[in-house]
Amino acid sequence: MPATTRDSSIQLIIGILRDAGEPISNRRFDDEVRRILGGDYKQSQHIRISNLRTALRSVGVVSHPRRGLWGLMPDADERLAELEGVNIWQAHIRIRDEKRRGSEERAAAETANQQAAMLKLTRKLVETWGPSGYEHRIRERIREEVADLCDETRVDGLGNLICRVGSGGKKVLIAAHMDEIGLMANYQEPESSYLRFTNLGGLRQDTLNGNRVQFEDGAVGVIAVQQGGGKALSDFYIDVQADRDGNATPVGQPAAFMREMQVRGERIVAKSLDDRIGCVVAIEAMRRLNRQTPNELYFVFTVQEEVGLRGAKTAAQGLHPDIGIAIDVTGSGDQIRGQKMLVKLGGGAAIKVHDPGLVVPVAIKNWMIERCEADGIPYQLELLAGGTTDASAIQLADAGVPSGCISIPTRYLHTTSETVDIGDVQACIDLLSGLLSSAIEL
Ligand SMILES: [Zn+2]
Repeated sequence: MPATTRDSSIQLIIGILRDAGEPISNRRFDDEVRRILGGDYKQSQHIRISNLRTALRSVGVVSHPRRGLWGLMPDADERLAELEGVNIWQAHIRIRDEKRRGSEERAAAETANQQAAMLKLTRKLVETWGPSGYEHRIRERIREEVADLCDETRVDGLGNLICRVGSGGKKVLIAAHMDEIGLMANYQEPESSYLRFTNLGGLRQDTLNGNRVQFEDGAVGVIAVQQGGGKALSDFYIDVQADRDGNATPVGQPAAFMREMQVRGERIVAKSLDDRIGCVVAIEAMRRLNRQTPNELYFVFTVQEEVGLRGAKTAAQGLHPDIGIAIDVTGSGDQIRGQKMLVKLGGGAAIKVHDPGLVVPVAIKNWMIERCEADGIPYQLELLAGGTTDASAIQLADAGVPSGCISIPTRYLHTTSETVDIGDVQACIDLLSGLLSSAIEL
């Protein structure tokens, strides 16, 4: 736009508002412009004038006191005197760009805050004790975390923590298991007080030797392997000697592995990411929803998944959901001589297609894929050759419940150094909250 036209238009706007002597409506303003410009008034000119009016507003000369009303600011003459010789349009562009930069910085700061909060929650959950069947401590931690994020919480007969958000609409059961793999002392050697043990969930014999475990009473034990052994669980024992007299933790005590969490760049390394990271995804999705959903959601933090999906069975039988979604970890195909699997760390949320316990209905799979496509969420398809999740138990409740699974790609499963990618976790949170925030038509 040539400078003369811009200047004369600015003078025209100021003149019209000054003549009116009071705020005028958009329509009246346009009529005045038309009257003054006569036959020359065009749509493109109208757009230019409204841009200039915005510029005058951003430098503080005109105001928008009520919706649809425009007028000169009381100190408009002073502002115009200050702006004497200054290009009002350029001043407006500079102010606008500063505001935009400010909002981009605010958005980046907010993302960083959210990520820091997510990592803090992850650390809290992975370092809380809770082997299968003994979830009381982790349940209380999660209950504190979700207290303000749901409409109602309760605990069922098996120990599942059930959190309702919203009512009416489709009933969706979202399951993340809060138990972790562990073990239980079942025999004490008479001389040494060494403990023999059985497994609570799938222990990997190749990772036991030298690992530390903590019993419910707080005692710390060291797992050792007898010479020449290592294939069978009966080759291992736990050293719990407290003193020379052989005082030690008694049999019947459950134990969980000990290991602090570490963050390495974009990666989280910790024990029990299976499935505390699934619990984090569920909690962060609840936070995003902020109790607003057209659906009836039951976020269930299940018990005893690692010993046979037991919590998910009773939860589904009690809730009669229309749809089931499990949030759990899955393997990755990016390890040396690892399994042949397309899922990799950093590739986004893994949408399950199949595992030995679940053939995901096409409608559920497509519902998830379409959400990712629409929202620009990175995703990958998961075909898991071994293992299954709570979703395979939920699908068999009542007369059948269409069920799917959002998986977090994970390396070194069932070791004390499970590893996930922060971007994948965020993608899972985006996908779950996106699915649940709008009405569901399948
Ligand atoms: Zn799991």
